[in-house]
Amino acid sequence: MRTEGDAWDIVTGVGLTALGVATFRALESALPDPLIRDDYAALFVRAAGEPHFLDILRDPPKIAGRPLVPGFMGLRTKFFDEFFLSAVAAGAGQAVILAAGLDARAYRLDWPAGTVVFEIDQPKVLEFKDRVLADHAVAPRAVRRPVAVDLRDDWPAALIAAGLNPDTATAWSAEGLLPYLPGAAQDSLFDRIRELSAPGSRFAVETAPTSAAAGNFANLEAKYFDKNPFGEIDPTELFYHDERADPAQWLHDHGWTVQAVGSADLASTYGVTLPELPEELEQQWQRPRYLSAAYDAGSGGPG
Ligand code: SAM
Repeated sequence: MRTEGDAWDIVTGVGLTALGVATFRALESALPDPLIRDDYAALFVRAAGEPHFLDILRDPPKIAGRPLVPGFMGLRTKFFDEFFLSAVAAGAGQAVILAAGLDARAYRLDWPAGTVVFEIDQPKVLEFKDRVLADHAVAPRAVRRPVAVDLRDDWPAALIAAGLNPDTATAWSAEGLLPYLPGAAQDSLFDRIRELSAPGSRFAVETAPTSAAAGNFANLEAKYFDKNPFGEIDPTELFYHDERADPAQWLHDHGWTVQAVGSADLASTYGVTLPELPEELEQQWQRPRYLSAAYDAGSGGPG
């Protein structure tokens, strides 16, 4: 259950979902032929010491008798990795990772020299991440600027105070974020990103399932997984299901050029052979879940 202004650390509430997805990145990274490598993910899981995710790390859940990975979190991670690398190659000199959680892209990716990477999340989540990486003497590969602020508050002021330059192109990401925001906060997030985006900016978005699809997926997990990947928490209970703009439509209406892909499309692009899954699960892979949007001068919309 969510409340106005609720806060969390890495082992409570919404913070635990960041630990969960880090666990899934650690599992992907440990495969013999991983889609992505995130060597920091396992460090976070061990440092947090949360029993369920330690167990998942040792003994991953199986679905329809097959391991949860490959591809489960690797596809999503690789999509956003490639998005950032292509956005900075196209000229974006700064990146903003909204709701960064335990995202270690500032430490993992080969950023062009001088790229500034802003990471927004709640204070205790960023404190945990900074502490673990400092304990392991890990240095970022970009100019990293953590911005501890709630995305329901005046985050643009905090971001500009941390050094964002709204006059140059920015690469933005909203990965695993939107359903955790109330509808009004999501709508204002998009307005604010538009206001802060100079021509040349790019925005990658993971869209939320409809509430019916989210509920259906929770049931399917219970039916097919031998143990629940998220343990006792049900992330969909932390979601807001209130009205909000459709991200693809909104971006299109505001002058962005939008491309949408589903997990099945990514699997085929990245050459991942998915295990044979029951049909009702298979359908979940078809949804156009990931958006990649470009805002270019002359794209015609109101900006
Ligand atoms: N993007 C990261 C990733 O994919 O690894 C983390 C995803 S995790 C599922 C959700 C993240 O959203 C958490 O780190 C949480 O703290 C953050 N988050 C959710 N609502 C937020 C808010 N109102 N303000 C700041 N961060 C928020």
